[in-house]
Amino acid sequence: MTRILLTGGSGFIAAHVLDTLLKRGHSVVTTVRSEEKAQKIREAHPNISKDKLDFAIVEDIAKLDAFDKAVISDPPFETVIHTASPFHYRVTDPRKDLLDPAINGTVGILKAIKRSAPTVKHVVITSSFASIIDPAKPASYIFSEADWNPITDAEVNLATGYRASKTFAEKAAWDFIEKEKPNFTLSAINPPVVLGPVVHYLSTLASINTSNERVRDLITGAAKNSCPPTGAYFWVDVRDVALAHVLAAEKQAEAAGQRFFITAGKFSNRQVAEIIVEEFPELKEKVPTTEEALKPGDFPPEGWFGYNNEKSKEVLGLAYRGLRESVVDTVKSLLDVKG
Ligand code: NDP
Repeated sequence: MTRILLTGGSGFIAAHVLDTLLKRGHSVVTTVRSEEKAQKIREAHPNISKDKLDFAIVEDIAKLDAFDKAVISDPPFETVIHTASPFHYRVTDPRKDLLDPAINGTVGILKAIKRSAPTVKHVVITSSFASIIDPAKPASYIFSEADWNPITDAEVNLATGYRASKTFAEKAAWDFIEKEKPNFTLSAINPPVVLGPVVHYLSTLASINTSNERVRDLITGAAKNSCPPTGAYFWVDVRDVALAHVLAAEKQAEAAGQRFFITAGKFSNRQVAEIIVEEFPELKEKVPTTEEALKPGDFPPEGWFGYNNEKSKEVLGLAYRGLRESVVDTVKSLLDVKG
């Protein structure tokens, strides 16, 4: 058992990380932005005692001192998993809305650990394929964790803001390790599009996390006449992403100093739509089915990059779920959301 601080516990991915940590016997304090959000998580885990699951309120990770109190605990933390970071497109100012919380949140928590939590030996951060991709590469290029998104500060705008926020935040974390030489090691988990069942509290389908919006739109009729564009054509199931975080936390010796590109492979929104029709025939009227309607969700004619996920399998021992299982479980979970 390890005493772990998990940031952003109300999020789509973090909720699965929390469940995986609890199942594997760890003791977790998770940060949330309000007591109300803590209460929803408590209610979802009625039989878990306070020494196994507790909360710290961190309202805004863009503030550099946001984590100063949260990193201090009795018993003290041994590991920190930092997932909190904005992932949405409701952005008016990419620096304020995306870059500041991503970068300050990451640097802020590392500084706070170094200063006030000397028992922490390992930190796992949720980075992204956004920090790996270089869209200028030819379609034949094979991406792995050896690659870095070359985006520069001068290229930050509304369209690039999210990818920049993840790239700069992860770079800042590795720079911190190199320059500050703290008493802990670092691992980064770099997933592409994350699909999978929703286990965190959702008041309505309107507040669904960004990467599952496509599935919501495919089952509600919102995409009946036009399948959403896929965007990035690599995907991974949220339960595998969660397990990757936990394995990186547990296997400190092997995972220290490493980035991990976590992907199950290629997919398209057209494939997601086709699986939904096959598995949920009762939803057929809501899902795009004509060639014209499906086309926007298809692979690009020039093809899409290759991938190498060997390190995640060899070092972490990950095995990946298939797209059909992931889509079926996502749809079932969304059909359960009222409103
Ligand atoms: P969610 O939006 O569900 O989770 C984001 C979490 O970050 C929430 O807990 C949110 O709190 C918290 N957060 C955001 N901004 C702030 C802030 N300023 N102050 C405090 N907390 C904040 O998204 P995901 O679960 O999908 O994302 C989790 C992580 O995974 C992020 O780092 C994201 O970049 C990364 N990622 C996600 C991918 C995906 O496809 N889903 C792919 C690759 C990486 P609240 O809910 O209260 O707003």
